[in-house]
Amino acid sequence: MRPDPIIVLFRNDLRISDNRALSSAVDAGRPLVTLFIFDEGLQDARPAGAASRWWLHHSLLALSNALEKLGANLVLRQGSTPEIVAETVRVTGADAVFWNRRYSPPDIAADTILKSTLRANGLKAESFDGFLLHEPSQLSTRSGDFYKVFTPFYNRLSEIDPRDPVDMPSQITAWKGTLRSENLDDFNLLPKEPNWSSGLAERWHPGEAGAKDRLQLFLEERLDSYADDRNVPGVEGTSGLSPHLARGEISPFQIMAALRHRRAKGAETFRKEISWREFSYHLLFNRPKLHLENFRPEFDSLNWRSAPSALKAWQRGRTGYPIVDAGMRELWQTGWMHNRVRMITASFLIKDLLVDWRDGEEWFWGTLVDADPANNAASWQWVAGSGADAAPYFRIFNPILQGEKFDPEGAYVRRYVPELTRLPNRYVHRPFEAPASLLAECGVTLGENYPSPLIDHAAARERALEAYKYTRGG
Ligand code: FAD
Repeated sequence: MRPDPIIVLFRNDLRISDNRALSSAVDAGRPLVTLFIFDEGLQDARPAGAASRWWLHHSLLALSNALEKLGANLVLRQGSTPEIVAETVRVTGADAVFWNRRYSPPDIAADTILKSTLRANGLKAESFDGFLLHEPSQLSTRSGDFYKVFTPFYNRLSEIDPRDPVDMPSQITAWKGTLRSENLDDFNLLPKEPNWSSGLAERWHPGEAGAKDRLQLFLEERLDSYADDRNVPGVEGTSGLSPHLARGEISPFQIMAALRHRRAKGAETFRKEISWREFSYHLLFNRPKLHLENFRPEFDSLNWRSAPSALKAWQRGRTGYPIVDAGMRELWQTGWMHNRVRMITASFLIKDLLVDWRDGEEWFWGTLVDADPANNAASWQWVAGSGADAAPYFRIFNPILQGEKFDPEGAYVRRYVPELTRLPNRYVHRPFEAPASLLAECGVTLGENYPSPLIDHAAARERALEAYKYTRGG
């Protein structure tokens, strides 16, 4: 008699190494059914944004190829997870379902129900860690509350030794029967008319192999100078691992293991950034509506402006502030934006334009390949001042000075705002102050081929301070 198979569900863990659900199922010595369900019907779940869907398509292709090499085929289905799992159990006679845990609140709710339903039906349902270093439900302050300040959270997290990553299986024995699998193209994850994804494809290599290459490149070439370079958008000084982490193509355990014996200053800084990701999930777990509700309710009384044309100018990179425009265009072209510039562009939208942070969060959600429910919401609230351990409300980035400090040669601006290429460094972050003759010489006509500033920063700053004053947080 053939042993009953185990179903391994893939979700945001699209990798075969350090995948405990997969390796535990293989270790059980039974045939496997590897299944990915594209389920957009989850209650309260937010559909993935367009850039993140593009990534998912390519990541699934990569996973499917990697599994095939080990002897398994990835079954692709679209629809309700409980129904498709039940159908797969029925067809295959599986008596166990394994998966790695997810941590966004609608996912947690769905997986909790799935687990109890399967168990009530006499099946084995087992879940494993892999997406986060800590279990948000299990880490609390001495008083039993959740952490609202990063440093104590980080200190506590640092006390926990991350487990070693588990190796990838050398081969998989697949269940031999026939299961209906859908065509990946039918998930409609790729943009069609227009197909705007060429810039994404040029920059990124979705999938586990791409993630490993990025980590390797980072360790070899960037880690030592990371502490300084991470703030310079004109230099490729960061890991670029965020979209890979978002889809679970690499686990934080693998990253921590790779850093283990590194003593460079950059290694400590990098561990800290990885821990910000943990902190964001810690907050999301405890505040499930983080992308909708101010973490600090005193900010609810802030009077945001309704400014659709300003919002559009920001989205399109046409604000007249070069560093803001470069960032927004980098995002549009490549699906990613440098962290320093994310802070500058977010501050500009929230404080200079006085537009609700939720509008910016939504735009990033749709356009980022690394769109992440915890990091995005927590970071937007951090900039707005409404979040946990956030920037103080009176910290208002000056987009000109930020540009001059972090992009002194204008390398980043020139890359994404080619209209300004010929301006000398002195004016590349403040074209509106350049003499008319110089502008003409450099081929810049403000208001025509590059916008005049949407707003005067000094006046906008005063307006923001006034608006924030009326929040009880101010
Ligand atoms: P590295 O500097 O190489 O850092 C390594 C990893 O650490 C990142 O991949 C990420 O997982 C984590 N990390 C780094 N910085 C932060 C941070 N500030 N908060 C949380 N985790 C961090 N990050 C996302 O992954 N998804 C998002 O949707 C997202 N939205 C953001 C929105 C705003 C307004 C801001 C200011 C930041 C946002 N971030 C988001 C955080 C950060 O900008 C990105 O994680 C980082 O730029 C990714 O590039 P990297 O992988 O090269 O980072």
